[in-house]
Amino acid sequence: MTRARATFQTQFFVAALTATILALGVAGILFSGTMRRQVDDQIESTLVAETRLAAELLSRTAPLPTIPELQDEAIRIGELLSARVTFIAEDGRVVGDSFEKLSDLASMENHARRPEVVEARASGLGRSRRSSASVKMDMLYAAVPVKHPTIAFVRVAVPLTDVGHQVQTVLTATGTALGLALVGAAAIAWLFSIRISQRVRLIAQVAQRYESGDLTPPRLGFGDDELGTVARALDQSVQEVGRRLAEQARDRARTEAILAGMVEGVIVVDAQGRLQLVNDAAKLMLKLRDVSIGRQYSETIRVPAIADLVAEVLLGHRPEALQLSPPRDPSRAIMARAAPAAGSAEYGVILVLHDITDLKRADQIRRDFVANVSHELRTPLTAIRGYVEALSEDDANSDDRRRFLEIIGRQTLRMERLVKDLLRLARLDAGQETLDLVACDTRLLVQGVVDDLESAAEERRQRLDVTIAAEAAVVRADPAKLHDALRNLVANAITYSPEQSTIRVEATPVDGRMTLSVSDQGPGIPEEDLSRVFERFYRVDKSRARDPGGTGLGLAIVKHLVELHGGAVRVENREDGGAKFTIALLMAIVCSLAGCTRAPAPPPQSVSSSGPLRIERDTSPAGPITAQPQLTASGGGVILSWQASDAGDTTLMFAERTDTGWSPAKTVVSRRDLFANWADLPSVMRMSNGDLVAHWMQDTDPAAEAYDLRLATSSDGGRTWSAPFSPHHDGTKSEHGFASLFEASGGSLGLVWLDGRSMKETGLRTAMFDREWTQLSEDAIDTRVCDCCPTAVAVTASGPIVAFRGRTDDETRDISVSRLVDETWTDPVTVHHDKWHLNGCPVNGPALSASGRDAAVAWFTAPQDEGHVFVAFSQNAGTTFGAPVRVDESGSLGRVDVELMPDGSAMVSWIELAGKQATFMVRRVERSGGRSAATTVTTLGTNRSSVYPRMARRGNEIIFAWTDPDSLSVQTATTRVVP
Ligand code: ADP
Repeated sequence: MTRARATFQTQFFVAALTATILALGVAGILFSGTMRRQVDDQIESTLVAETRLAAELLSRTAPLPTIPELQDEAIRIGELLSARVTFIAEDGRVVGDSFEKLSDLASMENHARRPEVVEARASGLGRSRRSSASVKMDMLYAAVPVKHPTIAFVRVAVPLTDVGHQVQTVLTATGTALGLALVGAAAIAWLFSIRISQRVRLIAQVAQRYESGDLTPPRLGFGDDELGTVARALDQSVQEVGRRLAEQARDRARTEAILAGMVEGVIVVDAQGRLQLVNDAAKLMLKLRDVSIGRQYSETIRVPAIADLVAEVLLGHRPEALQLSPPRDPSRAIMARAAPAAGSAEYGVILVLHDITDLKRADQIRRDFVANVSHELRTPLTAIRGYVEALSEDDANSDDRRRFLEIIGRQTLRMERLVKDLLRLARLDAGQETLDLVACDTRLLVQGVVDDLESAAEERRQRLDVTIAAEAAVVRADPAKLHDALRNLVANAITYSPEQSTIRVEATPVDGRMTLSVSDQGPGIPEEDLSRVFERFYRVDKSRARDPGGTGLGLAIVKHLVELHGGAVRVENREDGGAKFTIALLMAIVCSLAGCTRAPAPPPQSVSSSGPLRIERDTSPAGPITAQPQLTASGGGVILSWQASDAGDTTLMFAERTDTGWSPAKTVVSRRDLFANWADLPSVMRMSNGDLVAHWMQDTDPAAEAYDLRLATSSDGGRTWSAPFSPHHDGTKSEHGFASLFEASGGSLGLVWLDGRSMKETGLRTAMFDREWTQLSEDAIDTRVCDCCPTAVAVTASGPIVAFRGRTDDETRDISVSRLVDETWTDPVTVHHDKWHLNGCPVNGPALSASGRDAAVAWFTAPQDEGHVFVAFSQNAGTTFGAPVRVDESGSLGRVDVELMPDGSAMVSWIELAGKQATFMVRRVERSGGRSAATTVTTLGTNRSSVYPRMARRGNEIIFAWTDPDSLSVQTATTRVVP
């Protein structure tokens, strides 16, 4: 990289320098040639002019009769002209020469044949360049005739060395100028090469970044020249390609999510027979372990019938659907359909696999059911008919008649029981029996069953032994229905176990569930029948030879009733003989007992004594058409923020609740591009020095749901706000939201948010600012988290902790926490392994609250498709959390909030969901697991899709805020609590 950069810069510099040298060299040569000639011509013409002047001068001077006088005149003119001046007589004799001594004149050679003299005689002017025989040097001569009695010609000569000297002077000056120009040009070329190479380097870096998959556009521009234009064009193409790739990836992810979520198995093979896609359901159904995508399908699909099906479609046939059992699993049935994959020029194959085991089973059950009902009815009907016929015959005596009538009565009773059971099952199937859940005293409930069946047991001299564990003293159930279920099990035990045996009824807590079991000392149930005894009409003894009077529907009704409670019933054979039926129900932790048929029992120990709260509706400071309430608490009070919509603009506003109630509402920001999402809530928070900090979101690309986080601060109570700033600087048009602000130690501002800059997955990031709002850091806490569940932060005595919904590779979306320890966020730890697998985001974040080293986290989860809310406590600043305590009543939509109370308990709020009705509820949960009665803050009706209620504490006052779905306005309520 460095080498390439140096080379480009040097190459550019060398090229520019060479061009400059060449240009300057050629210019120098041309210039010096011209200059030389010009100087030469100048000197020559000066010499000629001087010679003419000397001739003119001599023609005007008096005749100089003697040689010495002539010599003196020559010397005088020679000195005046700084040249050699020679006077030549008509015959060629030299009569004066400024360069010769007087004595030497006589011996001088005759000059009549000197070229300049010859030329002067002929044309009036003679010029010559040659070596002087007299003075022995190269000279430039000019000679002209003179009108003088003794001098015929005057000749002026300058040494050629003088001429060269003058030319040299000019050339030196030219050379110096060229040298300076060269240095200047070199410097300019160097600077220019640095600038160009920097830009080329920027473009190369951007290209390299693009290559590595990071399509963040460069923050610096490319410039306005051709290089910039090319770079910009390439950048735009890459961004476009990136956008399309992201779109494709989104489409692919969506398709994969759809395929992964399908219960049908899907296999796609291309026209060449290469495997293109196998979804999870297909892998599971065909028990495919090694799936070789891109290889021939026959390498992966080892089931011959299915491989043949694919082959037939590849050959252009339309084969019928196929029914088969998966390898090594004859109990299951799969329907395989293969069809050509349309939509491409070359047809491949789409193979769809349906698991029809349940369908077949249901069909079988239906057929069995009809056969069983007919059979069950036929037996008593045949008996009744026979005895009615016998009665109608005259020879029956009165004893017989009484016996026949008794039999008819018994059979009628049996039919009546059967019809009653069938009707009850039909009601249960149709969901017509609803639960009336109350907390019941387990002992009273079991006693009720024992009382009912005591006489039957006594008849068979059997003993009913009841044991209730202290922890299972209370069961939350519909007492009548649980009574029926337990009664059925005990009745069966009495029927099927031998006389004088013991039947044991036990209530114990197991794995957080409350179990009610009935064990007997009867024959037990053959292993192969264990899984089927809960089916309708299923009887172990199919001969019905020994008719214990049952309908074969009892256990089916038990199963229904228990499942209606959200529980499960199972059967096993005891090691020392006999069957054991167990009903497992959710543990009940409630405040009072009600609804049981017997006298009320004292409240059990695990029940909290605090009663329901008194909720007081309050005049909300937010006006109409407001939404997204958020509450933040500080030493000063609680701040409620919300967004108001008006004429296309969205405004973030807030009011503060102090001892005197709500302050007047103030505006933080009002913009057209303020991002509004029912679960991504902006906030306003007061720092301990009194400053306010607000955060909100601004659209950057609404089509792509891209938006940025913006922060602003106010030091005058919200009258004026600073210029907004962002905690992130990635420059991508992606999700930046679900932020939680907090004040870290030393009064610095921290925040965490969900960040979609990687385009592939959403990460959790954090930033810190000092008291002057200068950004100190920006880090990633987790690179893969659930994409749109709100985050939560609380500050413990040991530093801040953040709670968020995590996301593992297998799409488990449980709640994780990370702590800031020694300026580093710890690796996220799962609060509780709910094992909620979900291909998508439930938009349901956790809530956190902390005080000292105590912390509470509340969250929503639905691993078995039943939504519930839990709270867990930590006493070591969030390092570990205790066992979760269930918070909701019977089912929840989540959207939780939590406030730790001074006594270590937690106020938890949530949306309870019963039927289609949603209710915003709150209750206090103690660390021990005790729960107060649930109190309704407000009912939300059925239109609750965009309600995300919030809660905050101000001393003894708990404040609630939510968006009323009917009036579309933020509402508030308060309650006073004993701290
Ligand atoms: P039924 O009315 O015939 O008792 P259930 O649905 O209550 O019908 O029971 C189904 C079958 O399960 C019974 O026919 C019996 O074979 C078997 N079964 C039920 N309870 C027991 C038990 N405690 N011991 C042995 N077998 C039992």
